[in-house]
Formats: sequence, structure tokens, C-alpha cells
Amino acid sequence: MPANILVVEDEPAIQELLALNITQAGHNAIRALSVEIAQNLMRETTPDLILLDWMLPGMNGLEFARKLKSDNHTKSIPIIMLTARGDEYDKVRGLEVGADDYVTKPFSPRELNARIKAVLRRRAPQMTDDPIEIAGLRLDPTTHRVTGNQTNIDLGPTEFRLLHFFMTNAERVHTRSQLLDKVWGDRVFVEDRTVDVHIRRLRNALAVSGHENLVQTVRGAGYRLSEKSDEKIA
Ligand code: CA
Repeated sequence: MPANILVVEDEPAIQELLALNITQAGHNAIRALSVEIAQNLMRETTPDLILLDWMLPGMNGLEFARKLKSDNHTKSIPIIMLTARGDEYDKVRGLEVGADDYVTKPFSPRELNARIKAVLRRRAPQMTDDPIEIAGLRLDPTTHRVTGNQTNIDLGPTEFRLLHFFMTNAERVHTRSQLLDKVWGDRVFVEDRTVDVHIRRLRNALAVSGHENLVQTVRGAGYRLSEKSDEKIA
């Protein structure tokens, strides 16, 4: 699943290079030349990761990072700071305001992509292409194949995304609105009931290999994927 990566960088040549790297790594690049433009774009869509230059006209990258990390709506978005300065003091300041990592300019494309992948794996594992296996159920994001004990399982696109999210966030309980936010996208107007419909379809598909009980209903809270059987299974 490609990640939407917001690039906030005021130097067009560097921005171009960053966007090219991101696209070649299979993700979508959203570009902003300033914090102000970035804020406008973020009213439309919430990025999965922000590459944030330190030195920007107007509000600088450090201030913007601090602002994002102190706001409940944006604090979970991972941030990689780009800095031309290599000194330890600046790196520490960036990490102190909540940035997840930093890359020092000039950067190598390989290093940048490795950092992006590491941050996504840690903060948004559903955005990486690593195959996941739980209790004999295997999902491969690259080939879009799901197998249960080597048996092919056919899933619609929404059920695939739902299962991918569950498997990368196993054992945790997710409310319907969290699932809508993470799986359908946060600006989508669908009813909570829609989640139940897709959960039912997902369970029916997983029944082919006997994995339907992995998707559990937690009464009054939502759903989770767990290998442990639970008395709360509906
Ligand atoms: Ca700059």
C-alpha cells in the first residue's frame, strides 16, 4: 500500500529530488514549498509521513514539527527532519520536539529511502511491503495474495486493506471510527455500519481456511485480530 508522503522543502531542486525518490520507492509525493502550503494541503488529506526541511521561509521546520506534535489530530504523523546542519545539538532538538528521525543534507537516495522505510515500519507498518503471517494466515502486500495454511483466500479490495491493517496492528482493539479512519481514509463519509458489513465479508472469506475467529468482536469497543481465543468473540 503506497504511503502519502508530504515533502515540505523550499528549494525546488531538492524538492524535485525528494519527490523522485519517494515515487521510485513506490509512494506518493505531496509537495509543499512552505509550512503555510503544507497546512493548506493537510486540510484536504492527512499524510502518512512528513519529510520536513528545517530551514524554511516563514515558520521553520522545527516550529512546525512542534506544532504538529502538540496537536491531537496530527501528533501521530511520523516526521523525518531534513537538516543541512550536522551538529548534534540540532539533531537532539529535532528529536526532542517529537521528530521520528532526521536526515542530514546532502543525503543519498538510498539512505533516505532506508529511513523512510524504517519509520513507516515502526509507525505505520501497513504502509510497508513486508509479508505478514499470523497463525498460518499469510498476507503479501506486494502480490496482494492472502493464503490460509497455503489455501488461497479471495478478498475484495476493502477486505484486503482491512485485513492488512488488522494484521499489522494485531491484538489491539480498534473502534469502528478508527477503522474508518485508517482503512477507508479520514475524509470519507461512510456509516459505522459499513465496517460491520466488511467485517462479515472478511470473516466469510477467512472461513475457507478456518481463520474467521481471528477477527474478534470486542463488545462495546470494536474489533481486533488476535490469535488468542476469547470469550468475547461474538
Ligand atoms: Ca530550506
